[in-house]
Amino acid sequence: MSTEQNKLKYVQFLQNRSKEEAKTIYYQRIKDAKHIFQKHRDSFFIRNCPFCDSPDFRNLEKFHDTYDVSACNRCSGCFVNPVPSLEALNDYYNNSKCNILQHNLVRKRKSKSSDFIVDDRVVKVIDYIVSKKHKNQEKIRILEVGCGSGSFLSKLKKSIESSFKNKYCIEYCGIDIDKNAIDSKVDNNLNLVHSSIEDFTQRYGGLFDIILHFELIEHLIDPFRFMRDSKKLLRKNGVMIFTTPNHNGAEIVASDYNSYRLLAHSIFPPMHLNAFSIINILHFAIRCEFNVVDISTPGKLDVSMITETKEYLRDIGFKTLACLNDETKGIIQYLLSKLKVSSHMLCVLESSRED
Ligand SMILES: [Zn+2]
Repeated sequence: MSTEQNKLKYVQFLQNRSKEEAKTIYYQRIKDAKHIFQKHRDSFFIRNCPFCDSPDFRNLEKFHDTYDVSACNRCSGCFVNPVPSLEALNDYYNNSKCNILQHNLVRKRKSKSSDFIVDDRVVKVIDYIVSKKHKNQEKIRILEVGCGSGSFLSKLKKSIESSFKNKYCIEYCGIDIDKNAIDSKVDNNLNLVHSSIEDFTQRYGGLFDIILHFELIEHLIDPFRFMRDSKKLLRKNGVMIFTTPNHNGAEIVASDYNSYRLLAHSIFPPMHLNAFSIINILHFAIRCEFNVVDISTPGKLDVSMITETKEYLRDIGFKTLACLNDETKGIIQYLLSKLKVSSHMLCVLESSRED
């Protein structure tokens, strides 16, 4: 099969995890979400729209009869509101069983030689470095926010070194608020720091050429503040490359946040609190004073996930899609991605600051 035809190949979600593993994690996530709601609901607080800052919103269906979900009356973005407090989130991320299950699954996946989601991100960062035509030996500083133990940075470093030898002089940095993750870093040549973004910004403003974060902003109580702080870390014309779910993506539209799913929906408290989409991300980026370089949806798994949950689907179009042959499904997935309606979004923004 040629490289071009490879793009049309039907990729199956269950290469990443078994159906049973996905089911176990899903039901544990719902159980843990309800537990956190009952325990901490009195500390939850109302917020303005996280995308456009409007205080004007309406209520949608509750998430599994617990968390309230709002839709903004100005920009139509969806978000969990009242939002769980930091105390509730700390309890959830440090003590919930679902996160231990998920962590074990990701670790198992990383031990495999290839992971196309990570590989796609590596390619995107390298493409950007090459396109900027950095002069030889000019130092490029890359920062990953929420770097964990540095698995992504390590993979990126190895790829760049094997493709370009010593052409680029790159410093790989990462920060994470999880001290255990930093202490167990996978590569001693990475500069990983246990720090919040706020503290890091105070010390290293204007230093970085590239900031990376993956599947992070949908989890935050105040994503605007995070973007503003991150921007201070960038040099003039520095870029931010990040991923987040696309609320307008096919797989997310096919089954709502109260349906059984293989992966978490873009609304999935207390984990996913802000449903970014191909529509509101533009508005949000401009409000955060970034220039939009590129927004794409390189997801490959929508059709497969729709197929695997077909008995739960209500919409006739998605139900029919789930019954097509693999060749047709591969073509449809390719087109979903091309037309920017896959459920996984990759954004490249450029700092527009003048100082
Ligand atoms: Zn809004």
